[in-house]
Amino acid sequence: MPALRVPREKAEMTKRLLKRLGIYDGKRRPVREGDHVLLPLLDPDKAPELGFDVLDVELPMRPERQIYRNLESVLREKLSPEEMKYVRRYDIIGDIAVTRIPPELKHRRGEIIEALLKVHPFLKVVAVKGFHRGAFRIRDYSIIWGERRLTTVHRENGVQIKVDLSKVFFNPRMKGERYRLARLVRDGERVLLMFAGVLPYALVIARHRKAEITAVELNEDAVKLGLENIELNRGKLRGRVRLIHGDVFEVVPGLPAFDRVISPTPKGVDALSIALGKAKNWLHYYDFVHEDEIGGFESRILEECRKQGKECRVKVKKVSEYKPRVFKVCADVELS
Ligand code: SAH
Repeated sequence: MPALRVPREKAEMTKRLLKRLGIYDGKRRPVREGDHVLLPLLDPDKAPELGFDVLDVELPMRPERQIYRNLESVLREKLSPEEMKYVRRYDIIGDIAVTRIPPELKHRRGEIIEALLKVHPFLKVVAVKGFHRGAFRIRDYSIIWGERRLTTVHRENGVQIKVDLSKVFFNPRMKGERYRLARLVRDGERVLLMFAGVLPYALVIARHRKAEITAVELNEDAVKLGLENIELNRGKLRGRVRLIHGDVFEVVPGLPAFDRVISPTPKGVDALSIALGKAKNWLHYYDFVHEDEIGGFESRILEECRKQGKECRVKVKKVSEYKPRVFKVCADVELS
């Protein structure tokens, strides 16, 4: 199996590079060889021209990683194949695991908790989640193991995000989407972030770009946490975040236009017109749309652009599956 032979002092750096390129083989262990290290490689053809030798050697497998790499592999030892079909995805938010346990697996609660702890030994709380409710999009949770709390500090994209899941919305699965947007923002941009929550988008953008961000949020608990989060990340932010506590529909009309507007719109709310109205160059508008209606969603945006006398190009992207065939989508709207 392929391995890259690198001088010891360059091993850490090269390992990170290989991981970033997606060609580091985490299932095998690196091995020291005198003043060199052999790094396990997935695909020698994709190995960059680093000037290191690619060898064909047997490196040891990582036993612990193989067994406890994921929840399914732990549970498969305890649950029947029939029961395995009901195992749900889970999220890790800080030191809290959040999952669902369908009725078919109620009797397996203990095994599920145990398996989560095996895969993530740092966990302090395991909770099961209900559905989002109301305009603030807060979920019901019940704690099934560990400390009785739903506050934690989550790490993502180089920032720390304090949340209280009993009082605010937070979705760790959007981290890729937040990074995507952060990379689109240019230094010096003025950005409006509507429905800002505890500020995950704002913080990630400010972490990576020297942007001026104005964020608007109505839920007082989210605003409090948002302000704490600005403090928590103070030293790492390149950009500036200003947070306004208020209703988007009352506050935004009084604001000037922005280079870029981002609207992580709560489900059931229509903020298209107001968001587009404040966008000079770009609008990123999120909504929940059935697969068959994505064309219609696009036309609705084009129609709104026409109404506001703006030239625009729209690209709609599926972000995540909300329920079968219904997607959270993001329309990237370029205005000229
Ligand atoms: N952007 C955040 C939150 C998205 S959820 C994140 O990705 O985590 C939608 C947010 O909009 C919630 O925090 C909710 O409290 C807030 N919200 C709902 N209606 C609002 C309104 N009219 N004005 C301002 N914020 C509102």
